[in-house]
Amino acid sequence: MKDFFDEGDLVAVLTTQPLDRPLDYRAPEGGCHLGAYVEVPLGPRKVHGVVWGPGAGGFDLKKARSVIRVLDLVPMREEMQVFLEKAAAYTLTPLPAMLRLATRAPGLSDPPSMRKVYRRGDGEPARMTDARARVLEVLESYGGPAFTLKELSDEAGVTASVVKGLVKQGAVFEEDTPRDLPFPHLDPDLPGKTLTGEQAKAAATIREGIQSDRYGTTLLRGVTGSGKTEVYLEAVAEALRQRRQALVLLPEIALSAEFMTRIEQRFGARPTEWHSGVTMTERRRTWKMVGQGAAQVVVGARSALFLPFLDLGLIVVDEEHDTSYKQEDGALYNARDMAVLRASIAGAQVVLASATPSLESWTNAEAGKYRKITLTSRFGAAVLPDMQAIDMRGVQLPSNRWISPDLQGAISSRLEKGEQSLIFLNRRGYAPVTLCRACGHQIACEHCDARMVEHRFLKRLVCHQCGETRPMPEKCPSCEAEGRLAAVGPGVERMTEEATALFPEARVATLSSDLFSSARALKEGVRNIAEGGADIIIGTQLVAKGHNFPLLTLVGVIDADLGLQGSDLRAAERTFQLMRQVSGRAGRADKPGQALLQTYQPEHPVIRAILGGDEEAFWRAEAAEREQAGVPPYGRMAGIILSSPDMQEVFDLGNDLARRDAPIRAIGAQVFGPAPAPIARIRGRHRVRLLVKAPKGAPLQKAVAQWVGQVRPGNQTRLTVDIDPQSF
Ligand code: ADP
Ligand code: ZN
Repeated sequence: MKDFFDEGDLVAVLTTQPLDRPLDYRAPEGGCHLGAYVEVPLGPRKVHGVVWGPGAGGFDLKKARSVIRVLDLVPMREEMQVFLEKAAAYTLTPLPAMLRLATRAPGLSDPPSMRKVYRRGDGEPARMTDARARVLEVLESYGGPAFTLKELSDEAGVTASVVKGLVKQGAVFEEDTPRDLPFPHLDPDLPGKTLTGEQAKAAATIREGIQSDRYGTTLLRGVTGSGKTEVYLEAVAEALRQRRQALVLLPEIALSAEFMTRIEQRFGARPTEWHSGVTMTERRRTWKMVGQGAAQVVVGARSALFLPFLDLGLIVVDEEHDTSYKQEDGALYNARDMAVLRASIAGAQVVLASATPSLESWTNAEAGKYRKITLTSRFGAAVLPDMQAIDMRGVQLPSNRWISPDLQGAISSRLEKGEQSLIFLNRRGYAPVTLCRACGHQIACEHCDARMVEHRFLKRLVCHQCGETRPMPEKCPSCEAEGRLAAVGPGVERMTEEATALFPEARVATLSSDLFSSARALKEGVRNIAEGGADIIIGTQLVAKGHNFPLLTLVGVIDADLGLQGSDLRAAERTFQLMRQVSGRAGRADKPGQALLQTYQPEHPVIRAILGGDEEAFWRAEAAEREQAGVPPYGRMAGIILSSPDMQEVFDLGNDLARRDAPIRAIGAQVFGPAPAPIARIRGRHRVRLLVKAPKGAPLQKAVAQWVGQVRPGNQTRLTVDIDPQSF
């Protein structure tokens, strides 16, 4: 394609505005490159966009308006354009919404002021106030990247006038050109760990892939502690030697402190972080540096896939099975799949690492689409935890107690030895149900089809769907009886209470995402635990995600059956993965670990598989069941969610869609529903779901686009397409 347009040429400009296609403009004075970031007139407004290609024409060309100016940014590379187009087509997301993911950082929808505020070495304000002190503290504690005035005031939690006051008094000053610190250099040739035979072989295979300069995906499987990270760090080193960039995606980026240190130890400098906790200023700078190739290794959340890498050689997706890789609002995409797409366009290698791969990746490997490498043993002396079920059917516990005598005994013995125990329960809050003992009323959210969950630390009820909170009432909201509200069932906070009562001497720490005010506080909490600051850890699924607690030797699961309820065909897979991940936290260092799973169904095939049954056999049985049902990875699915404040409207629209299923039937697929969505109401919107099940090779996206294109949702109704839904 032509990559430069002369002044007056017709160019198509894609903006993040919700239009269905790029609009034509005249190239400005001096011309513009393909991919250039530009400002264009749109109606009475000025908006930013990207020169997407030659204009389509076909209208009165005299009316074509001109590009106002070309922004001072490196043009978007063609590779990124192709990626965005393919990702949009795959997920049936409008292209402008995809573009938004790739341009959020430079702030194209809201052009940033480039003037940055700096501390003046000797300047002190004539009068110091708390607010002023906070601003100066923020400036000093960050040291490196500068803030714009607005960012600085946001970060310090003061109004902009406080900062302006400091400027006036000469304590800080504003300057146009950002003074970027040099980016750290990561050196791949520093000595890494000496790999074991098995690890070295794995690393060599992936290295060859990178040297080939071609796309390829490797599924790197191995129990927790087998050295998957060591292996893929060698792949990162190889990418750096080839002067290409590497991206490592982690599911829980807030907990990555330990990982950052590990990379620093290996390569002599810290990698670049990319996630929602990074300030806007840093993000802009990172965006630029990634584009120039100066940021060699990025460790990030799924949105890092949309960074403008200059030459991407490797993408690692760690814990590739993790459900949080699926983005659940806005553009619905699975970062694991988009990583493969991105790499195939960039000619890069992908490493999917997991102790418990998704059935999707497992079948892709079996089918030869992915290379499969398995690390069979834990590194060094570490052995896999001894896993046992505690059959709860015969256990008599006092009311409101959940820790069985066996588990209690095991924790006691750890306490005596100075080792840590983890009590795992995948439920945030104090108790899942708050019930009135007088009338039987259960407190529910007014806006959602969900119960309100008591959070005793906050002294509030919280809806886990919409986030609405209210103070814990004293009277029943229904019958007004006083003092009759009771907590029913356990949440992590309640487990903390029980553990504290059973082991009054022990230091008990609770790790649940809602108990930390910020990502920084959470990181701090995790570090404290890793360093031995707690004897008993009570945690939700947050703790299952790949950190190293070297002193942890016992994992007790309160309710191993929790995930097996319900009709979701993925329940077995998810439970297996979660239980194995959690158990894998025990005994990573020189001390052997133990995992005890409290269950009412010890004979359940999934529980048996978790307890060390034949893993391959479990996956094969799962696979057979999915194949029989014709669902992913053996068939394809799409979900359509319709939502509206008006229940009648969503059902009418759903029924209308179900009737017009000809485009779906034409590809040999079927429509199921409409039925109430798994959560039938969120934030006051009723939700109805239709599911499409198609044979594996069928052109699903095309058919779905045609199908939903037949209906016009009313003003209040939203229609969302979810290709490859998480649950079915
Ligand atoms: P995984 O990613 O599979 O959970 P890691 O790569 O984190 O495993 O390895 C587990 C622990 O063993 C880490 O502390 C790691 O540094 C250590 N380790 C693994 N392989 C080696 C090796 N070859 N030499 C030294 N330490 C190793
Ligand atoms: Zn709610």
